[in-house]
Amino acid sequence: MSGIFGFLARRFIAGDNIEEALQAVERLNSKKITTTLDILGENVSNKEEAVAKADAYIELLDHIHRSAVTSHASIKLTQMGLDISDQFCFDNVSRIFERAQEYDIFIRVDMEGSDYTQRTLDLVYRWHEIYPNMGTVIQAMLHRSEDDVKELNRQKIKVRLCKGAYKEPASLAFQDKKQVNKNYAKLTKMLLSDGVYPAIATHDDKLIEYTKQFAAESGIGRDQFEFQMLYGIRRKLQEQITSDGYRMRVYVPYGTHWFPYYYRRLRERKENIFFILKNLFKD
Ligand SMILES: Cc1cc2nc3c(=O)[nH]c(=O)nc-3n(C[C@H](O)[C@H](O)[C@H](O)COP(=O)(O)OP(=O)(O)OC[C@H]3O[C@@H](n4cnc5c(N)ncnc54)[C@H](O)[C@@H]3O)c2cc1C
Repeated sequence: MSGIFGFLARRFIAGDNIEEALQAVERLNSKKITTTLDILGENVSNKEEAVAKADAYIELLDHIHRSAVTSHASIKLTQMGLDISDQFCFDNVSRIFERAQEYDIFIRVDMEGSDYTQRTLDLVYRWHEIYPNMGTVIQAMLHRSEDDVKELNRQKIKVRLCKGAYKEPASLAFQDKKQVNKNYAKLTKMLLSDGVYPAIATHDDKLIEYTKQFAAESGIGRDQFEFQMLYGIRRKLQEQITSDGYRMRVYVPYGTHWFPYYYRRLRERKENIFFILKNLFKD
């Protein structure tokens, strides 16, 4: 990663290539933290590039399989050609699932902006019938998510619950943080009670406490769900949760197409922008 922005992005991104990403995974694994690897990139609009991106994931799965690390992989469907057509994307990603099935590696389909929610879920339902070792993501900010969680629970599809990283209109999403958090807690309860091995993906202390407490009161074991956090965010807390006997998985992004991901991390927290400004003006 070159330039000052590339240097600063290193806090959130494991590196440019597979080797650097696997080193980050090794470091986390040595602390008993598991991972999911993500090759950065989204909104690919030509077929050759989308096919090349899926090939890069297949190569990643080969590396994971050959190496001593244990890791899942996370994919974004707009990187795989969702903007071209649903069927093209289905066929392209099925190649990744075929290889993942061969190696028994879990694949998570990330959730992108609300224009893609229904199409993503429709594809997930199709894939899950063929490749059961996969899951998807639900965003607590969306009004529709309660119904989606019910359906995913009914179909026994594993869910990662997050707040949602995309700017959405008031007609579709809660705009007030308190309401997002309230819905997050409600969906956590539904997933822990009726879902399959949910992933509670947040850096929010209150929601982490809520999850621990609800699980303890309901007799849900610490091995029946996992917490997830993003690479480079709240590293001490990641270790603390692990040493308290909970499962922790870190989302490890790598690659050269890092700007949109990095921009979302900056938007989430104004302190990150101050950090950049401070470094830009440091002599
Ligand atoms: C494993 C994982 C996978 C995800 N996958 C998706 C996905 O598929 N689709 C999607 O839309 N979103 C995804 N997200 C992002 C998510 O939707 C939120 O945008 C992001 O996690 C911030 O929300 P929060 O729950 O941490 O709560 P917040 O209320 O945003 O933050 C709580 C606290 O966490 C810390 N924190 C949060 N963000 C940052 C940051 N950027 N830098 C430094 N500290 C921070 C701060 O201490 C903050 O006070 C994922 C998040 C995680 C952890």
